[in-house]
Amino acid sequence: MFLLSKNEAYATARCLFTLLIGDGAPRRVDFSILSGSLEKMDATSKRLELTDLVVGLLRETPPEMVARVVYMIQGKVRPDFEGVELGVADRMAVRAISKSSGMPAAAVEDAYRRDGDLGRAAASVLAQKTQTTFLAEDITVERVYETLLRIAGAEGQRSQDMKAKYISSLLNDATPQEACYILKLLLGTLRLGIAENTILDALAVAYTEAKQNRGILEGAYNVSSDLGAVAEAVARGGLGAAKRFTVSVFRPVRPMLADRVKSGAEALERLGAGGFAAEHKLDGERVQVHMSGGRIMLFSRRLEKITGHYPDIVERLPSSVEADDAILEGEAVAVNAETGEFLPFQELMHRRRKYNVDRAVSEYPITLNLFDILYCDGRICLEMPYSERRALLEKIVVGHSGGGGGGGATPPDPYEFARCVTAVTVRDGAGVENALEDGINAGCEGLMLKALDAPYRAGARGSYWLKLKREYRNELGDSLDLVVVGAFFGRGRRTGRYGTLLLATYDGASDRFSSICKVGTGFTDEDLDRLYQALSPRAVRKRDRRVRSGMEADVWFAPEIVVEIVASEITLSPIHKAAEGAVRKGAGLALRFPKFTGRVRTEKSAEDASTDAEVESMYRGQKKVVQGDSG
Ligand code: ATP
Repeated sequence: MFLLSKNEAYATARCLFTLLIGDGAPRRVDFSILSGSLEKMDATSKRLELTDLVVGLLRETPPEMVARVVYMIQGKVRPDFEGVELGVADRMAVRAISKSSGMPAAAVEDAYRRDGDLGRAAASVLAQKTQTTFLAEDITVERVYETLLRIAGAEGQRSQDMKAKYISSLLNDATPQEACYILKLLLGTLRLGIAENTILDALAVAYTEAKQNRGILEGAYNVSSDLGAVAEAVARGGLGAAKRFTVSVFRPVRPMLADRVKSGAEALERLGAGGFAAEHKLDGERVQVHMSGGRIMLFSRRLEKITGHYPDIVERLPSSVEADDAILEGEAVAVNAETGEFLPFQELMHRRRKYNVDRAVSEYPITLNLFDILYCDGRICLEMPYSERRALLEKIVVGHSGGGGGGGATPPDPYEFARCVTAVTVRDGAGVENALEDGINAGCEGLMLKALDAPYRAGARGSYWLKLKREYRNELGDSLDLVVVGAFFGRGRRTGRYGTLLLATYDGASDRFSSICKVGTGFTDEDLDRLYQALSPRAVRKRDRRVRSGMEADVWFAPEIVVEIVASEITLSPIHKAAEGAVRKGAGLALRFPKFTGRVRTEKSAEDASTDAEVESMYRGQKKVVQGDSG
């Protein structure tokens, strides 16, 4: 057998490959093209540069490979809602790197400690490997992708061995740079921070030559929740193909979201005096139900598959809904089965179990409170006005008792499993106040106020839906959902855990997380343990490129975990960067006396966190109250 250096072998193989297939063969994409682009993307945080890099990569990718490339630059193999997990642990990766490089596992672990990332460690270890076999198989995007899928699908007793074998087979043939990105993909540590919006911009430029067309692509994404599928469609069929995307059962629709208001008067101002719906706002988990031909699938607000958390919905809902095929939305709320009384959101945590789900179902019963319908027996309902959707929902939910055009609130008594959420039509401030009082007496956290003539705007937050919560009416008003970007080690009782967290807001336009406060109060010992377990695997060596802060944390994290915080006031800050410059040049906004509410927002991604604009508007709202009070 010949022995060649890695680079020589690689170049020779590439030449042979080109000679053998010539120009007419279907195009394959060398993985080195993808890994080269990923490396450049890794090195920049500028959104325009990232967009250009994605455009360049897409233009080198044949249409049939575009979906795979789009998943991979997001660090995935399939859209989130399919729940495909690779399940590769660090230990297995260390073993595979050691096997392919011929270096002892301890040397790989040393490199890991030094580089802080197993992908980079693999690259540095493999770069020291001087010789390779001549007959190395080509590494193409297709090969890497298929291997990732095989790894995700490996099941049974021998699955660990199989996975290790698949990983080694790739690493044996990979250049150091390729190995680096293969490992990042396998371990879920490819965090380029490319927002979905950046990919949509790039798709519009690459395939329609105009960024303005991005809205059409976004529309396709909103009804399919699958960026890869949208990318492939537009690559193959242009804008026309994107326009043909439509709702389909078992593919989640991105949820419509609400703006917050502080008072009934503000809602009246925004929704008009012609009348609007006031629905009870329940504090549970948003569930999107897809049903067809007796099969049911459930998706969370983040569009993850959560069918396994609610076997009772799967079993009982069909007898409560008179439709064969439907997509419904509702809030699953924990209840006291005897009294029908709503219980706090935290009770639902018991449903997130892998084992003993049946016990959780009987010990922690729920009701499903339906509030919207997106599809019904062949009819797409998104464009129907709210009032028609609501009427259809009431028609198909058996024995619904959700109030209606003007009646009072009806508490769930006797206890019903599935029902339409209580709704009344209101026309003035007094109507909103009465509905709010009814809602609060029925154990709700407030109202959702909805325009009667509005369509269902998938994936959008706007003025058609407004949320009015009980606590909005005092002090700062609402709680904030903030991203944990860093931490400081604890002392005393908190030694060995993170005592204080550094939190940030999100701004979609710049794709940045900006620090807004440090928080060290409101944590129980159990919370501290839970947070340490969730955060420590997300620790990174350097501050993430998308994070801005004037503080130096002891540990920085990839921005992924979202926590709920209340505070007494928003002030100007020279250190924190949230909404920097929006109120005063050179100053950001900070929270005063922040406190953790005990709630980790697992159903939110970092990009769903409170935004700079929201915090700025809360700051200005608070100013108005103070001025109003003193005046
Ligand atoms: P958002 O979902 O707006 O980002 P969030 O997750 O922090 O915010 P809230 O601010 O509490 O949640 O309010 C919105 C959520 O309220 C919805 O996503 C849904 O889960 C829940 N909800 C409860 N009742 C209703 C209702 N009647 N109509 C719509 N949503 C409701």
